[in-house]
Amino acid sequence: MKREFAVIGLGRFGGSICMELSREGFNVLAIDMEEDKVNEFRNIASHAVIADTTDEQVLKELGIRNIEHVIVAIGENIQASILTTIMLKELGIKKITVKAQNDYHEKVLNKIGADHVVHPERDMGKRLAHKIISNNILDYLELSDEHSIVEVQAGKKMAGRSLIALDIRAAYGCNVVAIKQGNEINVSPSPDAELGADDILIVIGADRDIGRFERSLA
Ligand code: ADP
Repeated sequence: MKREFAVIGLGRFGGSICMELSREGFNVLAIDMEEDKVNEFRNIASHAVIADTTDEQVLKELGIRNIEHVIVAIGENIQASILTTIMLKELGIKKITVKAQNDYHEKVLNKIGADHVVHPERDMGKRLAHKIISNNILDYLELSDEHSIVEVQAGKKMAGRSLIALDIRAAYGCNVVAIKQGNEINVSPSPDAELGADDILIVIGADRDIGRFERSLA
């Protein structure tokens, strides 16, 4: 059986989730209270409906109960986002992902039991900041409030040296967990192999330590 998703709120964020899931061949129920938005997705999603999801009866009538993963992408209207999330929770939806507008919104969403809270503007801002710090930082992924993973291009500074010689763990307290070479990912990199300038190191550590490592590359 095909996996079923519902996306509530078809703004820029919800709209692109809906578009991508549909393109990947999943069944998507696209919901928005505005007719224009819904019309945009009539030929993209498997179903597109005009509905205000803060009305419990409306949610029930949509049969949302049968959907395993619901994404709440209501932007500006924080109250509507919270109310919708609470009702989805009460209806027993297995997986609820919600877009948070700010830190307080995020706190409330976690309290009421959203399974996954995303904060796209803040996260994208952080990732971009790390890429700006150094041209070698290719990507940045937050693991917790204090820990992250970064993808770092070896570049000239590390090329020709081995992991033993670089001794990143001793110098910065971070660990190299894998090395990417083209499409290949080596999850147990040899400590004494010389790195190439195009090799990409996947480094895990505390933000403070990763920050020191990043600055050493700047
Ligand atoms: P983005 O920043 O991702 O573009 P927007 O705030 O522009 O987010 O879009 C959120 C969408 O959510 C809008 O299209 C809006 O009509 C829809 N929306 C807001 N409240 C509700 C609600 N109660 N029920 C259904 N859709 C809603």
